[in-house]
Amino acid sequence: MFVFGQEVIGTKVDPYTKCEHYHSSVDIIAIKFKCCDTYYPCYKCHEENTEHPIDRWAIEERDTKAILCGKCGHQLTINEYMQSANSCTNCNATFNVHCKNHHHLYFEL
Ligand SMILES: [Zn+2]
Ligand SMILES: [Zn+2]
Ligand SMILES: [Zn+2]
Repeated sequence: MFVFGQEVIGTKVDPYTKCEHYHSSVDIIAIKFKCCDTYYPCYKCHEENTEHPIDRWAIEERDTKAILCGKCGHQLTINEYMQSANSCTNCNATFNVHCKNHHHLYFEL
């Protein structure tokens, strides 16, 4: 699925980057994984669609654009995302607050 020109790989990805695992109205971000430089809606999508383990973004890499807003297509840096209070810095769309519980899977904390 291409979302605002970015390829998002996953299981049942929709045009807002929702997937089979997370598809509420606020599950509208995709995360770029360091290991494969590719956007996925969630870690389960990465697990189901690759054969390799997740490589997390290091703390020094937080200026990397690695979050895609499925509502407007804006790409946030990891820092921007972590400081955003769960909303898009461009369009103000609300993101899922519970993603926070999974940050350790994507980013070194
Ligand atoms: Zn990967
Ligand atoms: Zn998923
Ligand atoms: Zn947005």
